[in-house]
Amino acid sequence: MPFDYDNQNIFAKILRGEIPNDTVLETEHTLAFNDITPQAAVHVLVIPKGAYASYDHFCAEASEAELADFARATARIIADAGLSLTDGGQGYRVISNAGSHGGQEVPHYHLHITGGQPLGRMLN
Ligand code: 5GP
Repeated sequence: MPFDYDNQNIFAKILRGEIPNDTVLETEHTLAFNDITPQAAVHVLVIPKGAYASYDHFCAEASEAELADFARATARIIADAGLSLTDGGQGYRVISNAGSHGGQEVPHYHLHITGGQPLGRMLN
């Protein structure tokens, strides 16, 4: 079954400039901005500019350039926020929700980067 993508989702509107965002980083293939309802001192959303609904959709259909750009941009945000363990930071969490069981609200693939405070242990 082909992957489905709803281009009326809120992140698609942000990418088209129809809704403002608080940009943290923009690269050729990636946009990162602060979550509108932060769950931690640092709460950044990282999205590919391409039309992908989920992690598996992104990994299956994105180009090598998009994949690399997204991974490097994510690492750069972590470093720039002072969260990186290799740079004296205290750590962070990276998660991606997918579909109804994953609790995904916005059907455009995104990572949540949270940190800046103790986050506790979370596996569900
Ligand atoms: P999900 O549950 O899909 O993984 O998370 C979606 C996230 O998008 C939520 O944390 C929510 O606060 C955030 N969000 C929803 N609408 C907007 C918006 O218009 N702007 C920003 N910056 N974040 C949004």
